[in-house]
Amino acid sequence: MAAMAAAVDREAARLTDLDSAIGDADHGSNLQRGFAAVAAALDKEPPATPGAVLALAGRQLISTVGGASGPLYGTLLRRTGKALGEDSEVTPGRLAAALGAGVDAVAQLGGAKAGDKTMLDALIPAVRALGESSFGAARSAADEGAVATVPMQARKGRASYLGERSIGHQDPGATSSALLIGTLADTAEA
Ligand code: ADP
Ligand code: MG
Ligand code: MG
Repeated sequence: MAAMAAAVDREAARLTDLDSAIGDADHGSNLQRGFAAVAAALDKEPPATPGAVLALAGRQLISTVGGASGPLYGTLLRRTGKALGEDSEVTPGRLAAALGAGVDAVAQLGGAKAGDKTMLDALIPAVRALGESSFGAARSAADEGAVATVPMQARKGRASYLGERSIGHQDPGATSSALLIGTLADTAEA
């Protein structure tokens, strides 16, 4: 989570630029505020298990990010944390299964599916690749999934208000998802 907070800080301007093209130019600052709160909360009272870390992080995102991405990423982390339960160690296979439950919860909350030009277009292939292969494969799948949103027309969230004019731009949320999955992979492989 600390590495994710640093990555979001580093890439905030790029995420906000993408959101200025098809949204309201706040995706980078939304996530910066959220992940800063996550890092501070974890620093203050480090939870004992990976599941509890994700649950606390998810709660922080929900309470500090006003935009759509706060509740969605918050739900992803909370649900993934809940699926990990009380285990003190997490294998890649367990994490892939737990993330699968988290991604399903995001789809349920937001009503989006693959191809709607959202964060799910990076998350769904990444979680599948992690389950079938490796962290490196998950990173590649998330990056490819984010790039694949460029020709899509947005069907959920603010970008959907633009209709066909949303075509030709990379989705900010899919881009931040690829950043977060890439950071997870870097950390897991380190
Ligand atoms: P807001 O649109 O409220 O300003 P953000 O800019 O922080 O929130 O986040 C926008 C991103 O959230 C989009 O690029 C998209 O990936 C994601 N998003 C929006 N609505 C949905 C949804 N219903 N399901 C999944 N992801 C969504
Ligand atoms: Mg926005
Ligand atoms: Mg907004």
